[in-house]
Amino acid sequence: MNNNTHKRNTLQKRIVSDVFCEMHNHPSAGMVYEAVREKFPNISRATVYRLLAEAAEEGRIRRLKLTDANDRYDVTLKPHYHVVCRGCGAVADVDSELVDEALAERAVGCEGFLIEGCHVEFVGVCEGCRQEQLSQN
Ligand SMILES: [Zn+2]
Ligand SMILES: [Zn+2]
Repeated sequence: MNNNTHKRNTLQKRIVSDVFCEMHNHPSAGMVYEAVREKFPNISRATVYRLLAEAAEEGRIRRLKLTDANDRYDVTLKPHYHVVCRGCGAVADVDSELVDEALAERAVGCEGFLIEGCHVEFVGVCEGCRQEQLSQN
């Protein structure tokens, strides 16, 4: 890698990371790309996807595998759950502490298993979609 390529990579990395950190809606790679492209039309889709995947591998951001939705990326690393809108696919955070405590108490020692974690996903209808439903009735 020559010096100019290196400089460009570093710059692109910073741009993608800055844009991503301002999005608090658990964006998909495609959504991050659209936001980056508005400000920096020269960055390719492949570059944005690659940089996000790298950041997730390095543990700087979190990649979410959600049922019925594309992979999303999350700035919040602290453990928490998500609720997915079944209307538009919007994703929001759910505080998991109380849920975790309640589950862990009951899960200990099931059939001799050592429980190491669990995956909970909430499904619902977001504010925007509910307003839309109301206005249609
Ligand atoms: Zn919605
Ligand atoms: Zn989240």
